Amino acid sequence: MSEKAGDARLDMETLVSLAKRRGFVFQSSEIYGGLGGFWDYGPLGVELKNNIKRSWWKAAVQERDDVVGLDASIIMNPRVWVASGHVDTFADPMVDCKECKKRFRADDLEGYVAAGAQGQAAEAAAMRCPECGGELTPPRMFNLMFRTFVGPVEDQASTAYLRPETAQGIFANFDNVLTSTRRKLPFGIAQIGKAFRNEITPGNFIFRDREFEQMEIEYFVKPGTDEEWHQHWVEQRRNWYRGLGIQEENLRVRRLDKDDLAHYAKDTYEVEYLFPMGWSELEGIANRTDFDLRRHAEFSGRQLTYYDEESGEHIVPYVIEPSAGVDRCLLAVLFDGYREETVRGEKRVLLRLHPSLAPIKVAVLPLSRQESLAPTARKVWELLRPHWMTQYDDSQSIGRRYRRQDEVGTPHCVTIDFDTLKDDAVTIRERDTMDQVRVPITGLVEALRERLGGV
Ligand code: ATP
Repeated sequence: MSEKAGDARLDMETLVSLAKRRGFVFQSSEIYGGLGGFWDYGPLGVELKNNIKRSWWKAAVQERDDVVGLDASIIMNPRVWVASGHVDTFADPMVDCKECKKRFRADDLEGYVAAGAQGQAAEAAAMRCPECGGELTPPRMFNLMFRTFVGPVEDQASTAYLRPETAQGIFANFDNVLTSTRRKLPFGIAQIGKAFRNEITPGNFIFRDREFEQMEIEYFVKPGTDEEWHQHWVEQRRNWYRGLGIQEENLRVRRLDKDDLAHYAKDTYEVEYLFPMGWSELEGIANRTDFDLRRHAEFSGRQLTYYDEESGEHIVPYVIEPSAGVDRCLLAVLFDGYREETVRGEKRVLLRLHPSLAPIKVAVLPLSRQESLAPTARKVWELLRPHWMTQYDDSQSIGRRYRRQDEVGTPHCVTIDFDTLKDDAVTIRERDTMDQVRVPITGLVEALRERLGGV
């Protein structure tokens, strides 16, 4: 998060308030004061989240001939995390302010120098508390994995971890998938699921959570073809965000400096979005080499190789890993779609969500609450419900109802008026242009399907 956003776009506070007011995201266990880094997705949030995951799965698995899916358990044999390096190295440097007692991630602070020639004491001396300017403790490494116990005895032997990434469930199943699907290299395994990190400083709403969801692909390739496949995946993933309608100027791909690479990576690109707090990571696309498969083979004693018929040799594939966060993507989609306009002297807030992502695709609005309209309006609603997520709203003026739907990104409203009772036709009103067109009820599903682009 090095650069600041240049323009005065929607600020975080306004978005958090909209997200709560309209039922996208609530603070977890809010009635008890909440819990830092944990969030709940409300009725519209869960739809948006599911639509993001569906779109990812379609691009990552359904539309490809070389990727299969997986759903691995969250808690795994703890030796997985020893082999992966997480037990030893999945830690952030943590400092406490001696005066105000606040806690920070040292590498977020100005003056931080990674432990090395100068040593840890020098790091602390160069930094001051960003809140009160006070003196800080020397940094100490804090492991981000949540620990728990499996079975009734809480001892060292029963200690297990909530997975901090979904990737390891894929590596541990490499051989199972290979033998059960008889795949040839290159091929990938994709997974969507929860991950947990005991972040020292969660924040920026749902950007940095302690419980979040990842969408990951481990793509296994022949060594020597890895760099080419890495480029392929960077392009694929960039195009996926473009396809969601994210504006080009708010999206960038950055190659990490060698010094910033994770211990397993040969090369990494990040897809970043221009949030109000600056350019921040949505997804990492890493070349993990053969690190994971070799480590798991070493620690499990199992052979995790691929028999290459061409060369007649057993090889350890290299891995390209596109790893995206669902929550961060959802946050980017909300920021990116938010617009404020003035229409006939009044403020109109709208979310320009891609139709495939919109939580509600069609709202059914009888012009008034008069009883004569209700049966027809309800019939129209019934007609649409099997096809899309819809909403029926008959309270307050039609103008206010349009605004309510605009604010949550509903692409189309269908209005039933008194003429409908005579001509069996309704009005479709489009979110972005506010254009209205009259169509017969018999052709309504088709007309909407066409306008929604087949979603
Ligand atoms: P950061 O540098 O922001 O801590 P990271 O580089 O540790 O992220 P990865 O380990 O590459 O993240 O995880 C892959 C993806 O998982 C990230 O790009 C992000 O979308 C998501 N992710 C990681 N940590 C969190 C978190 N604490 N909250 C929400 N999403 C996260």
